[in-house]
Amino acid sequence: MTEPRRIHILNPRLANQIAAGEVVERPASVVKELIENAIDAGSGRIEVELESGGAKLIRVRDDGSGIAEDDLPLALSRHATSKIDSLEDLEGVASLGFRGEALASISSVSRLELVSNAAEDPQAGWRVVAEGREMQPRVTPAPHPRGTSVGVRDLFFNTPARRKFLRTEKTEFGHVEEAFRRLALSRYDIGWTLRHNHKTVHQLRPVSDAAARERRIAALLGSKFIDNALHLDLESGGLRLWGWVGLPTHARAQADQQYFFVNGRVVRDRLVAHAIRQAYRDVLFHGRHPVFVLYLELDPSVVDVNVHPTKHEVRFRDGRLVHDFLFSSLHRALGEARPNDTADATD
Ligand code: ADP
Ligand code: MG
Repeated sequence: MTEPRRIHILNPRLANQIAAGEVVERPASVVKELIENAIDAGSGRIEVELESGGAKLIRVRDDGSGIAEDDLPLALSRHATSKIDSLEDLEGVASLGFRGEALASISSVSRLELVSNAAEDPQAGWRVVAEGREMQPRVTPAPHPRGTSVGVRDLFFNTPARRKFLRTEKTEFGHVEEAFRRLALSRYDIGWTLRHNHKTVHQLRPVSDAAARERRIAALLGSKFIDNALHLDLESGGLRLWGWVGLPTHARAQADQQYFFVNGRVVRDRLVAHAIRQAYRDVLFHGRHPVFVLYLELDPSVVDVNVHPTKHEVRFRDGRLVHDFLFSSLHRALGEARPNDTADATD
């Protein structure tokens, strides 16, 4: 008979590395988490810079609220967040982050440097460095304009099993660009830059009018997308759906240009996917996939975003209502593409 092994609490670094397994899969996941923090900080400009597909360096720089000196070590601690305080806050959460895990996880599997300034004085600012997560990060003065820069070097340097799963530079950069695309499509009012190996890949000015939004979409998804898309903006019962849906004739062999946002958050949801498929059902050839960039806006308290650590899934309080609203809105928008449908001819 074997003796039972004794139970002990995992040391914090190991606990963070285990948690990192859920949120930090590859450079693109780091980019997503850092950009989400920059958005939550109210930034007007976000710059992303990478070397070697992000395996060597990922840096995200913003002009947001910054982090106060006293809060800097906490920012890297697990379960430390400025975004929620209570269960009520969680239920109505409007920020992209709230779990307080990203920086702790990322810093446990990389060499992370965070420089931030929460003051107006551009000479103020503080730096905190964590290599594979020392428990007591040191804070030293470092000038930085108002805002935050986070640099992540040598991702997975201390977890060789995960480092081995990184693909080629090109593949990793492809995933990063896709993450960037989604986030840049989620906030037109923010100016964005993406640089790879010292070359500018995307430079997007903040925009507010519809024509400029379409230009941004063309820059990110190609002008073919926007030239073959219908614009819609419909509202009913506290729900609003707006954005662009591709004409059925512009459907693709792969479902690779489908962007759906719920309250500014990129979401992949079965109920949403089903409603869209139904709306396109009789106008699309079998095996083809529609393209769309769609924004659903609703009261944050009727949608639960705390379903999965990456927050790509949501749960609607009234799924049926959302499904029917999506279906009828899209069915109506696609009416022009459905000339023989007599049911639509009456409205
Ligand atoms: P979460 O976003 O879930 O709160 P993170 O680990 O991503 O957790 O970040 C921890 C905290 O650090 C945030 O709650 C925020 O207060 C602060 N923070 C992180 N990045 C930034 C940033 N770019 N600007 C301002 N504050 C930031
Ligand atoms: Mg975060």
